[in-house]
Amino acid sequence: MATIVIGGGLAGLAAAYDLARAGEKVTVLESAPRFGGLASTIPLEGIHIERFYHFICRADHDLIQLIGELGLSQYLHWEISRTQFFYNGRMYQFSRPHHLLTFKPVPPLQRLRFGLHVLASRFRKDWSDLDKIPARAWLMDKVGKEAYYVIWHPLLGVKFGDYHDKISAAWIWHRINRVATSRKGLIGQDYLGYLEYGTDTVTNALVEFLEKQPNVTLCGSVVVEEILIDQGQVNGVRLKNGEILQADQVVSTVALPILSKMAPNVDARFKEKIDNVEYIGVVCMLLHLDRPISEAFWTNVNDPEISFNGFIEYSQLNRHVREKNVHVLYIPYYLRPEDPRYEFDADYLYKEYSTMLKMINPDFDDHWVKSYQVFRARYAQAICHTHFVDLVPEYETPTRGLYVTDSTQFYPEDRTISAAIRVGRTVAKLINEKRR
Ligand SMILES: Cc1cc2nc3c(=O)[nH]c(=O)nc-3n(C[C@H](O)[C@H](O)[C@H](O)COP(=O)(O)OP(=O)(O)OC[C@H]3O[C@@H](n4cnc5c(N)ncnc54)[C@H](O)[C@@H]3O)c2cc1C
Repeated sequence: MATIVIGGGLAGLAAAYDLARAGEKVTVLESAPRFGGLASTIPLEGIHIERFYHFICRADHDLIQLIGELGLSQYLHWEISRTQFFYNGRMYQFSRPHHLLTFKPVPPLQRLRFGLHVLASRFRKDWSDLDKIPARAWLMDKVGKEAYYVIWHPLLGVKFGDYHDKISAAWIWHRINRVATSRKGLIGQDYLGYLEYGTDTVTNALVEFLEKQPNVTLCGSVVVEEILIDQGQVNGVRLKNGEILQADQVVSTVALPILSKMAPNVDARFKEKIDNVEYIGVVCMLLHLDRPISEAFWTNVNDPEISFNGFIEYSQLNRHVREKNVHVLYIPYYLRPEDPRYEFDADYLYKEYSTMLKMINPDFDDHWVKSYQVFRARYAQAICHTHFVDLVPEYETPTRGLYVTDSTQFYPEDRTISAAIRVGRTVAKLINEKRR
């Protein structure tokens, strides 16, 4: 028999890669025309740019290992990453320890507490207690009220919108830890990684490998409608066009709400568990400029007159893109997909955001803008609230032959490409071991 992998993002491709190499007959079914999922790209001035921003940290071991295995290490680059803070109408540099020490919006003692807390988080290993307490209470206790509201509150807001005060301390701890381990030395500069051709560097290599394998079928533009389950055992999938494909194993790499709809006959307790996971969506504007708008990769924004909480100038990290004179800026906005803003069109959002970009950089002019477009993801991020660990689904479900990967399994890690690769390969390992 065979394995069907639903989803051709990094988790699905990584799972198929390991399954194929072990000799398994694999079919990958991806609903979009291109592979890569949330990390897929669009063409822009002769190059490919990701729909959503992606940076890499030194702690992203699973990605770095796969890059090595695929012989792609020469395309992985590390750059000093600059961060800045736009607070109440003023820009502050925020990359080096001396920037923190002179960061006026926060009282001096709290600046020190903030720095010490980042340091302690970098070396902390055990996060089990942190799952039980909210990030807000934990951070306020550790760094002080002003430091929380000025620095951490916007970051939680940028990622979780209205849900920011529900997030567990474990999630924010891991986020601090991941970025802090990308710092050179204890008080050195932050180095972040990027792939020369974006995540396509890895996606394309995996797709090329899989296309050459006689035991693999790769299908784009194919929507799975139902996972067929009979008496607690998976026996295939039904596609949107009505076609039935048989398999004795199915690996779902789609977000849990999609899986829940797709598998009405899955084990009832498992379904109840995954139905309790809530997600937040993202509407993300990608601006293509003819010049940089700032010198920083990451700009946090905490200003009552500005609707977004930050922007990411990807070309300030990816030198290869910058050198082609392509300047790209992402403005993400996380929200529930039921929020009317989720459907706001690109022109509407551009009008709003361009006025605000002018507040941040008064030189910014509409003539700098070569194009703008908006990308949306309905299930951008699971809402990792307190006690989230209890909701994380197992890889092997109680329904025989049904395996699941999802970003909830990364917890407390933030959603990353690296973690997607890890969960995909973990599932492949489970299946391969059973086949032996
Ligand atoms: C705004 C944003 C910023 C991010 N920034 C970073 C970052 O800086 N660094 C980083 O490492 N990671 C980042 N990530 C996270 C990273 O993109 C994801 O963790 C990773 O791409 C998830 O891969 P996946 O394969 O698990 O899921 P997905 O990429 O979601 O793959 C699932 C696939 O299933 C397909 N599918 C859905 N329904 C069906 C169906 N019915 N039939 C067939 N196929 C279907 C989808 O089209 C999709 O391709 C970011 C994500 C977002 C949204």
